[in-house]
Amino acid sequence: MAFKHIAEIPGYVGKEVALRGWVHRHRATKNNVFIVLRDSTGVVQCVVKKDAKFFEDAERVGIETSIAVKGTVKKDERAPGGHELTLNSFKVVGPSEEFPITKDQSTEFLLDVRHLWLRSQRMTQMMKARAYLLGYFRDWFKENGFWEVSPPILTVTGCEGGSTLFSIDYFGRKAYLSQSAQLYLEAISYSLERVYSLTPSFRAEKSRTTRHLIEYWHLEAEEAFVDNEGNMKIEEELISYACQKLAKEHPQILKFFGREPKEMLAVKPPFERLSYDEMLEELKHKGIDLPWGEDPGAKEEKALTMDRKKPLFVYNYPRGAKAFYMKKADEKHVACADLLAPEGHGEIIGGSERIWDLKELLQSIKEFGLNPKDYEWYVDLRRYGSVPHSGFGLGVERTLKWILKLEHIRDAVPFPRTINRVYP
Ligand code: ATP
Ligand code: MG
Repeated sequence: MAFKHIAEIPGYVGKEVALRGWVHRHRATKNNVFIVLRDSTGVVQCVVKKDAKFFEDAERVGIETSIAVKGTVKKDERAPGGHELTLNSFKVVGPSEEFPITKDQSTEFLLDVRHLWLRSQRMTQMMKARAYLLGYFRDWFKENGFWEVSPPILTVTGCEGGSTLFSIDYFGRKAYLSQSAQLYLEAISYSLERVYSLTPSFRAEKSRTTRHLIEYWHLEAEEAFVDNEGNMKIEEELISYACQKLAKEHPQILKFFGREPKEMLAVKPPFERLSYDEMLEELKHKGIDLPWGEDPGAKEEKALTMDRKKPLFVYNYPRGAKAFYMKKADEKHVACADLLAPEGHGEIIGGSERIWDLKELLQSIKEFGLNPKDYEWYVDLRRYGSVPHSGFGLGVERTLKWILKLEHIRDAVPFPRTINRVYP
């Protein structure tokens, strides 16, 4: 008899099915054993009656034991999932020692046993949401003429500032783990025009926050012949598409996390746009005095987004607050935009138009105090048929943190790497 998944059970009412999975919950009374069986698709309650010859095996079985069962399906409104199975066959696949996770354990302990905690409903639902989200991003890129490409992870040029670079010994030379694929995507965009990549980025963030990981997944795009405004349009279309799809195709996952699907349906273009200088004004009204030239931090972003329902673009930052490769919008500002997620979550995307003129780029590298030698190949792109181009980087975990209303970014990834944790 072929094994079915728990999600298929509604099609088998009154019939027999074979299932396999793990013992999620277990309760024995004098005449019945109730086992809530879990597989990748859900949970179902199984009942073993006193007269079954495997009654004692079922009575003794421990939490997280893997089992294979057969039984008859009946509807039962009170059971989780709405169905119940009366078992006529029960086999242990792999026994379980006493499972260390019980109710109400500390966050630290659950991080220590993350490899086991991943079996929880919460982690399972998060990983599904994450997989769906990444799928929707890919679908959108494909439908909109983008090529998926694979840039390197080992590099010698940093692009988001030296202080968070992870260095490694590369056969006696110094190399770094990638902070961003951007510079490489720029090179590839002069071949394929519209490109994107999904890679891990590494940042040795020294401050402990609820929105920084040391290793995170970075969805980056680069587009030839696109300016800053065109770049923002691409970002808002991409985000809206994914939010709409999640709400329409997987509302139950959103609800599991306390997110109303209709809130995601409301995420559609155009997103509100606020210039950096307008943002300072708004902050002032909210009682926050951010000096001109400074990058808004968590506190400022929270104040800006707390009462908003849709993501917000803040564009044209002061040049000194941003990276060397950004094109000037005027003498004081650069043509860039950060996308801030609503409800206090803050930045999920950073994007900009890139300097595409040779002299301007050389000048900027000098002004930012960087070593031109390190950027020779990158500068080279401006020597051979340069064109206006823009791009952005989206933090996958930050985006998921917003969509699923998570308190901490570490719960948007199976095995989080934080300043004090690389195990398990
Ligand atoms: P922040 O100011 O919040 O540190 P950033 O300006 O360093 O962000 P970018 O360099 O623009 O961020 O990176 C692009 C995107 O990558 C960010 O918008 C964010 O979504 C994500 N990101 C950056 N750093 C981290 C991190 N340490 N952990 C998780 N995601 C990150
Ligand atoms: Mg940063």
